[in-house]
Amino acid sequence: MTAAVSLDRVCCTFGTGAQTVRAVDGVDLDIAAGEFFTLLGPSGSGKTTVLRMIGGFTLPTSGHIRIGGQDVSQQPPYARPVNTVFQDYALFPHMDIRDNVAYPLMVRKVPRAERLAKADELLALVQLPGVGSRRPAQLSGGQRQRVALARALINQPQLLLLDEPLGALDLKLREQMQSELKALQRRLGITFLFITHDQHEALSMSDRIGVFNRGRLEQVGTPQQVYDTPATRFVAQFVGAANVLEGAVAQRLAGQAAAMLRPERIRLGAAVDARATGTVAEVQYFGSFTRLRVDLGDTPLQADLPGGMPAPAAGQAVHLHWDDSAVHPLGAV
Ligand code: ATP
Repeated sequence: MTAAVSLDRVCCTFGTGAQTVRAVDGVDLDIAAGEFFTLLGPSGSGKTTVLRMIGGFTLPTSGHIRIGGQDVSQQPPYARPVNTVFQDYALFPHMDIRDNVAYPLMVRKVPRAERLAKADELLALVQLPGVGSRRPAQLSGGQRQRVALARALINQPQLLLLDEPLGALDLKLREQMQSELKALQRRLGITFLFITHDQHEALSMSDRIGVFNRGRLEQVGTPQQVYDTPATRFVAQFVGAANVLEGAVAQRLAGQAAAMLRPERIRLGAAVDARATGTVAEVQYFGSFTRLRVDLGDTPLQADLPGGMPAPAAGQAVHLHWDDSAVHPLGAV
């Protein structure tokens, strides 16, 4: 089957000489039609540059980008069957909401009555009926985000690019928009390429995640694969909390040259059969769980206790237990 989006050894370099930045460094990626795919990575890792190259706003220095099988590497943005939702929404402040949503149809010279009717349809789809005559400044951040989404969908793109679209929202609204966006994507069947540096957002919304680091894809997989079986130390530590064990400590605790142990897989228990014994150095309360930093002498270990369980105090000795399946070996990388 033809991939909705395909990147073939794509590189992007900015600047020259000593100022050269290799923003994207040989990325290969296939995204399937109808997939909700997230690029996850720290600030400056190259996510936005990849999205801009797919949208046509930045041209690759080398490599090929295909959308629906067509090589679009050198095509301008308007020639691509793609739309983009930017973090700042980029709404026109002087136009009312209906005209904002209908704008892409105006560019295509669709008659006014027809395009406004379509805008109303899209506003209903994003659950914003009745605000069409307002200006963007008269809406909340979450409402403006929905307007930007409606405008991006009005041309029925094959592919929607979303650059940290929920970044400006407060946590509650962000969580609500996450599930709405996911439901909308399922309903419309459009391929979504979503960018975030928020691992919770990536894990909860995506069919697959590509983890970016320094212009390279370190791992592509389902949320479970990326979380449970990270391919590298970077992925283990960037996606969720992780104890990364190395050398003698890894041999002693996990029987491996290097391994990852998630804090929530560690339990407190009796001295008998304990995998390790140490002293609680720090207790952090998070509500739904409590994180302990346990000093084992040669290494600290993070252990999470479920919320509601009594936590030991700092200075107390504790015995740590975990199942064999909690240990994930890490390779040499
Ligand atoms: P963020 O989450 O902060 O948006 P990002 O992962 O999207 O980060 P990019 O914006 O793709 O990262 O940037 C990747 C690298 O390329 C960074 O080092 C950045 O400074 C550099 N870069 C991006 N755009 C340009 C440009 N137009 N000129 C020069 N360097 C750039």
